[in-house]
Amino acid sequence: MDDKALQLLKTIFGYTEFRGSQAAIIQQLIDGKDAVVLMPTGGGKSLCYQIPAIARDGTGIVISPLIALMHDQVSTLRELGVKAAFLNSTLDSAEAADIENQLLAGQLDLLYVAPERMMTPGFLGLLEQSEIALFAIDEAHCVSQWGHDFRPEYIQLSILHERFPQVPRVALTATADRPTRNEIISRLDLSAAQQFVASFDRPNICYRIMQNQGNARDALLRFILNEHEGEAGIVYCLSRNKVEQTAEWLCSRGLTALPYHAGLPAKTRQKHQQRFLMEDGIIIVATIAFGMGIDKPDVRFVAHLNMPKSIEAYYQETGRAGRDGLPADAWMMYGLQDVIKLKQMMDSSDADEQHKRTEHHKLQSMLGFSELTSCRRQGLLRYFGEELEQACGNCDTCQSPVETWDATVVAQKALSAVHRTGQRFGVAYLVDILQGKDNERIKRFGHDQLSVFGIGSELDSQQWRSVFRQLIAHGLLNVDIEGHGNLCLTESCRPILRGEQTLMLRKETKQAKSARKGRKSFNTSKASDNQLWEALRACRKQLAESHNVPPYVIFHDATLVEMVERQPQNREQFSRITGVGESKLEKYAEAFLAVILSHVKQSNTGKSDTIAQSLQLFRNGNSIESIAEQRSLNTSTVYNHLAACIEQGEIALHDVVDIDEQEISTIQDAILAEDGGSGKLKPVYEALDGMFDYEVLRCVRASMVSA
Ligand code: ADP
Ligand code: ZN
Repeated sequence: MDDKALQLLKTIFGYTEFRGSQAAIIQQLIDGKDAVVLMPTGGGKSLCYQIPAIARDGTGIVISPLIALMHDQVSTLRELGVKAAFLNSTLDSAEAADIENQLLAGQLDLLYVAPERMMTPGFLGLLEQSEIALFAIDEAHCVSQWGHDFRPEYIQLSILHERFPQVPRVALTATADRPTRNEIISRLDLSAAQQFVASFDRPNICYRIMQNQGNARDALLRFILNEHEGEAGIVYCLSRNKVEQTAEWLCSRGLTALPYHAGLPAKTRQKHQQRFLMEDGIIIVATIAFGMGIDKPDVRFVAHLNMPKSIEAYYQETGRAGRDGLPADAWMMYGLQDVIKLKQMMDSSDADEQHKRTEHHKLQSMLGFSELTSCRRQGLLRYFGEELEQACGNCDTCQSPVETWDATVVAQKALSAVHRTGQRFGVAYLVDILQGKDNERIKRFGHDQLSVFGIGSELDSQQWRSVFRQLIAHGLLNVDIEGHGNLCLTESCRPILRGEQTLMLRKETKQAKSARKGRKSFNTSKASDNQLWEALRACRKQLAESHNVPPYVIFHDATLVEMVERQPQNREQFSRITGVGESKLEKYAEAFLAVILSHVKQSNTGKSDTIAQSLQLFRNGNSIESIAEQRSLNTSTVYNHLAACIEQGEIALHDVVDIDEQEISTIQDAILAEDGGSGKLKPVYEALDGMFDYEVLRCVRASMVSA
C-alpha cells in the first residue's frame, strides 16, 4: 500500500487503518486506473476518492446529484483542513467565478459539481485548462433509467472518458442489484474498470419487524423512550396525513418530532431538514420523500409505521441508520392494511402491466420477508444474492426465536371460507363468518347457511387476521388486483386444501416483549461516564453552533465515546483518539481537553457540580421534566443525577419515583437475579418485560446500594 495514502488517512482524517477494500480502490486511482465501487451506506465510499484526489496532482472533480450532500461533504472536508469547494445553483455568479478561478489556479483539492453544470460547454472548457486529479461519479445509480433516482445528465457523463482519457474515473453507489450495476458500467463506459463489490451487510443495524395489533403508535413511543431518548431518528409513514398526525402526537408526548413530506412548502421542508442535521435528538416523521442525500452519520433508529413497497426500499430506508457504525435499530410495525393499500396504489398508477406485475412481485417478497421465522439478516442478504453463513444474532428472530405451530387445519378453514363466499370478500368479513358472527350483511348474503359459518371459534379475531396475513405472505391467497381488498385463492393452495401438505405459521408474540434491547450509541451504568458524555456533547454543540456546521462535522459520536473511555489528558493522548487528525487537534483539542480535565478533577473531589445543581432544583420542588428543561438536559440525565443522590442517601427513592412496595420488591428481586454484579440494567429490563423504564430501575438500584 502506498505510504502516502496511509499517511493522509492518519494526519487528515485521524483514522488508523483502511476498511475493507478502501486501500485497494485508492491504490487503483492513485495509479491512474478506473474503478467501480459498490459499497453499502456507511461503508466509507467518500474516502475512496477523497484521498487519491489529495494525493494526486490537480483537483478531484466529484459529480454529486444532491446539493445537501455536497454542502455536508465540503464543510466536513474544510473542518479537516482540506481545500474543498462546490459549484451549484446556490452560488451567485461572483461566488461561482471565484471558485472557477481557484480551480484554474490549482488551489483546490476537491471540487463538487452538480451534473447539469458539469455538462455545460463552459465548464468542460474550464476543465480542459485545469489540472484534474480524477473524476468521481457519486450516486452512480442515477444513470439507471429504471431506478427512481434517474438523472438524465448522468448519461452524458460518458463523454468524460472521451474528452479526458488520461484522467482516472471512479463510479460509486450503494445500490446493490446487478441490473443497476451493469447499467452503470455500460452507460458510463467503464467496462475496463476494476469492480469492487463489498458485502452489503450492515452488522450494526438490528432488524425488528412486528405485527401491528392496533397499538403501533404506543409501541413506537415506548421504543423511542426506552431505547432512543434524546437521539436522532426517522419515522416513515405511507401517507402525508399519517406523517402529520404521528409527528403531532409524538410532540404531544414531549418529543421533538418534525413532519416532512412532498405536500409541505419547500421552505418548511428545508427548515425541518436543517434542524434534523444541526440539532441533537430530532425525530423526522416522513414519507419516503425524505432521506436521499441525508448523510447524517448518527441517525440511531429508523422506524416504519407501514410496510415499504419492496425489500429494496426497506434496505435503503433502514440503511440511513447507523452510518457511523455504532449500534442502530431498524424497527418496523405493519399490518395487512398496508399490503392492501400498497396494492391499491400500485394498481392505480399509470405504469404498464409488466411494471405493475414486477411491483406486485416485489411487494410479495417484502411481505414474505416480514413474516420470516428465520434470521432477518440472512433473508435480506439472500435477496441481494449474498449468503450469510450463520444467523446474525442481531435481529428479532435471532434474539427471540419465533415459535411456529401446525396451522394446516386452520388454513383449510380459512381457505374454504374464501372459496365458499365466492372470493369476493375481505378479511374482516371472512373472520366474521368463521367466528359465526350475527351480522346483517352475512344474513343478507345467506352466508350464515354455509358449512364454514362458525367453524372457527378456536381463534379470536386478532389471531384469524394473523392467519390470513400469513396465508397471503405464503402466496396461498392473493389480495384482489382491483383493489377492493377481497381475497382470492391461488394455485398453490390446492395441496393444503387437499391435505397433502402441512403448513406451519408463526405464533404472534405480545407486543410488550417487542421493545427489548436497550441499545443507545452510548450506554453505561456509570453515572460519572454519563456526565462526561453529556458534557462533551454540550461542548461539541457549542462549537458546532459557532462554526455553523452540524455537530457531527466537529466530531462523530464514536469519537466522543472514545474520549469517555480513554479520557485523554494531554494533546499527545488526544491526538490518538480515532477521528482526530491534525486539523481537528489544532482546532479542538483545547476545548475538549478542558472538559475532560475538569471532569477528572470533579470525580476526584466527589459529587460534581452538575449533580448538585439538579439536586438543588429538585429540592426546590421542581419536577424532573422542569429540571431537564431548565438545564437543557435529557430527563434520563436528570434521573441519573438523582439516582446518584439516592445512592448517597441524600434523597429517598420515594421522592423520585412513584411506585409501591410490591413493585419495588419485584424490581429488587429482578436486579438480584439478573444483575449478577455486571452493573448492566438491560437484562433486568428484559426480565421484567419492559414493564419499568430504565430510569426507574436505576433509581431502585441506587436505593439498594444506599441501604
Ligand atoms: P458512505 O459514503 O459509503 O455512506 P462515508 O464515506 O460517509 O460512507 O463513511 C461512513 C463513515 O465511516 C464516515 O463517518 C467516515 O468518516 C467513516 N470512515 C470511513 N472510512 C473509515 C476508516 N478507514 N476508518 C474509520 N472510519 C472511517
Ligand atoms: Zn439474525
